[in-house]
Amino acid sequence: MSTLPELHALFGGTFDPIHYGHLLPVSALAEETGLSRVTLLPNNVPPHRPQPQATPAQRVAMVRLAIADRPLFQLDTRELDRDAPSWTVETLAQLRAERGDQQPLGFIIGQDSLLTLPRWHRWQALLSLCHLLVLTRPGYATTLPDAAQRRWLEAHRATDVDQLRAAPAGRIWLAATPEVDLSATQIRERLRHGQNCNQLLPPAVAAYIAREGLYRDA
Ligand code: ATP
Repeated sequence: MSTLPELHALFGGTFDPIHYGHLLPVSALAEETGLSRVTLLPNNVPPHRPQPQATPAQRVAMVRLAIADRPLFQLDTRELDRDAPSWTVETLAQLRAERGDQQPLGFIIGQDSLLTLPRWHRWQALLSLCHLLVLTRPGYATTLPDAAQRRWLEAHRATDVDQLRAAPAGRIWLAATPEVDLSATQIRERLRHGQNCNQLLPPAVAAYIAREGLYRDA
């Protein structure tokens, strides 16, 4: 038995709607790294960006339905409870303060988000608060475009999963999770054309979308 502390993780997203491209790779990541808890953090979207089609309450309802029978996951609505969009680094600082200095904490992002990370507010501070756990995502480059950023990645990259529990923060894990070629955009587009999405998200979420008449219009 290992005496290292448990590894917990946070996973932010718009979840408009939550789908198997979120749930399956994260469940595989939990197997790969020994993650014991994943907290989903639905985001507000800044006003200058295209707004989610579902309301915050609908996005939360879909997350609740998706995780009802998945004990790995829990939900934290703090970003939606605030009226304004939050910087990820600020939410992570808050969670770090609540969970203490020693708790190993990962922040899960898809490969596409890793590529845009250098544009995030105070992105280099993220690693002082958590590890970054990166899911593979088909169709996106697997390396950062800039040489200095690649050096940063290599300097922090974990080569052994135990490194994620041996320190509270500071490592980057490039996961070997299965590639799921799916996005919420594709699902909204299919639904707009009246196409079936039953294989793409949990049945309870599909039933909710049908009941609420979501994503029928552009
Ligand atoms: P949209 O198509 O509306 O932009 P999305 O499907 O990319 O949505 P988000 O809620 O924006 O979903 O994503 C939240 C996080 O999940 C991001 O870090 C993103 O990289 C990751 N993610 C989403 N879909 C996948 C997927 N199929 N494989 C791996 N990571 C994913």
